[in-house]
Amino acid sequence: MDIHLLARSSSGNPYTVSFKLEGGVLTIGCECRAAEFGLACKHRLALAAGDPRMLYDPAQKEELEMAASWAESSALVALLDKVEDAERTVQAAKRVVKGVKRQMGRAMTTGLEIRESGGQ
Ligand SMILES: [Zn+2]
Repeated sequence: MDIHLLARSSSGNPYTVSFKLEGGVLTIGCECRAAEFGLACKHRLALAAGDPRMLYDPAQKEELEMAASWAESSALVALLDKVEDAERTVQAAKRVVKGVKRQMGRAMTTGLEIRESGGQ
């Protein structure tokens, strides 16, 4: 079974995003350049998530819901969870860096002890 959805693009010419369900396996293709390079392009991600804002033709809403329900019951969900976990790790690391930099700024202003081996 195939569903072909038209995705909005920055150029104004829509891309066709194809959802193919065959033998219990879902493939999602897109005509854009990012997908050509094997990336999870924004068109495939948004339509797999069921985001109607990515639809070029609002009349395709029912087909979008069907395609999104396929994606929702696929292994894509576990991969999206992995991305979310990694993004949380990145955010936590950024908070640590920010905190240490603030601490460094204060220490440079208030004074930094010279270690025994350093200085004169
Ligand atoms: Zn794309």
